[in-house]
Amino acid sequence: MEFSSKVLEKAVNEISQLPGIGKRTALRLVLHLLKQPKEQTVFLSQALLTMREEIKFCLNCHNLSDVTICEICSNKNRDHKIICVVEDVRDVMAIENTGQYRGVYHVLGGKISPIDGVGPNQLNINSLVKKVKSGAVSEVIFALSSTMEGDTTNFYIYKQIQESSIITSTIARGIAVGDELEYADEVTLGRSILQRIPFENAFKNY
Ligand SMILES: [Zn+2]
Repeated sequence: MEFSSKVLEKAVNEISQLPGIGKRTALRLVLHLLKQPKEQTVFLSQALLTMREEIKFCLNCHNLSDVTICEICSNKNRDHKIICVVEDVRDVMAIENTGQYRGVYHVLGGKISPIDGVGPNQLNINSLVKKVKSGAVSEVIFALSSTMEGDTTNFYIYKQIQESSIITSTIARGIAVGDELEYADEVTLGRSILQRIPFENAFKNY
């Protein structure tokens, strides 16, 4: 792509680094911004910068938050003995949108995936195991997507906590295999959370 302006080229190159955005789309976005009032670009840049500088990971559940302990973890009306294990913040948002879940979360930050070089140590697994072993937990709900990586991760964690006398469950598989939680509709996902099944029963079918 030949550019008539170096600054234009630089902006396009930066935007095209984002996933799913090729150079053509990046150019379209940049040209759109150029047609808008300058403030729009200022607000966009400031929002991104502020997000990078101010966002935190909740010390307790590792969810993204503005404060050191997120709103869900500091909410006394939630059941802190029930922990739903999810991959990332999108899953927390999807489950919260159902309005059906009153427990808390533990955000792993990904799934075990040897192909992508992600091992258990890169994920927030130890803090979860520690929480369970402290005796403060009565139920762990596995809510990772039902892909091979999701199942591997569930099973890895399960092996480490199965000695603890807690309930381990998984969300009912009304959600088709391979579906990501964030794409499930709210009704289906809400039902899955309410009708969870013992984890032991789930993995016998693997
Ligand atoms: Zn939290």
